[in-house]
Amino acid sequence: MEEVIIIGTGCAGYTAAIYTARANLKPLMLSGTQPGGQLTTTTEVENFPGHPDGVMGPELMMKMQAQAEKFGTRIAYEMVESVTRRDDGTFAVKTGSATHEAKTVIVATGAAPRHLGLPNEQSLIGRGLTSCATCDGAFYPDVPVAVIGGGDSACEEAGFLTRFASKVYLVHRRDELRASKIMAERALANPKIEPLWNSAVSAYLTDEKGEMRAIALKNLVDGSEREVEVKCVFVAIGHVPNSGFLGGLVDLDENGYILQTPGRTSTKTPGLFAAGDVADHYYRQAITAAGQGCAAALEAERYLADHEGH
Ligand code: NAP
Repeated sequence: MEEVIIIGTGCAGYTAAIYTARANLKPLMLSGTQPGGQLTTTTEVENFPGHPDGVMGPELMMKMQAQAEKFGTRIAYEMVESVTRRDDGTFAVKTGSATHEAKTVIVATGAAPRHLGLPNEQSLIGRGLTSCATCDGAFYPDVPVAVIGGGDSACEEAGFLTRFASKVYLVHRRDELRASKIMAERALANPKIEPLWNSAVSAYLTDEKGEMRAIALKNLVDGSEREVEVKCVFVAIGHVPNSGFLGGLVDLDENGYILQTPGRTSTKTPGLFAAGDVADHYYRQAITAAGQGCAAALEAERYLADHEGH
């Protein structure tokens, strides 16, 4: 019987592991299919405190892993299929190859940015295709870029990118933004943002180095095609939180994010905590995920202390 199982090995998971390991709870981490989480898909991270010269995303995650393992965290590369709570309040965590038992569970499975599904997009991630303007916007000064989407994220990212880019195309499949009125108005009033309405990206076009050169756009009203030169495409068509495997143990919001107790990482199931992007559609930053991982570890520790001997 484990004291704590942490599901997910992104910033939230590793921080929870460092804290629970140092509290001598000997955490078991279950890694899933993307060890290291979303930061492993980015290049340089310039906004994680403590790294004044920046740090590569994969390197930061390897250091977090080393720090977690140094204090006794065990990592199993298994994909969790389901979590159930037993009558005695403990949990059964079923993976593809085993069933683990634990007194507490910290869910830190993150969210996957939604992509368009175009053939070469995987090879372009980090080479002119990204889902995070905060992370990558500063790498594209004085060049045209595009944001895809019409929601609050797209408008926010487009506005942020105008600090760097020479021009920001806002590519949306309809002729009206989904974003809240204030965000939409702000984006459309910005002289550096040019909306391209009723437009769908039909291809990402690359240069001889395999980096983003342009997007091929199809006009969804008249069917016409055009090319627009951009050095980077920021995809902001939503995220998919990895919360589906928890069944009825947690309540989800309308987009699938786990609902936490306000101001806490606890959920409606005692002993089950959620941290990071799987429960946070608002901040979505490495440092805020790490902060929640810390909070979940402290809450799990207190829960175990309160239930000792029960
Ligand atoms: P969202 O509101 O779901 O918007 C996604 C956008 O992407 C929509 O405009 C949608 O088009 C478009 N889209 C979806 N699939 C597409 C596809 N396959 N091809 C092309 N376009 C596609 O997502 P979000 O903007 O990430 O926001 C998520 C939540 O976070 C929202 O509740 C939002 O209010 C909140 N948020 C708030 C703030 C803030 O308040 N500061 C900032 C960011 C996010 P359609 O419009 O045609 O459906």
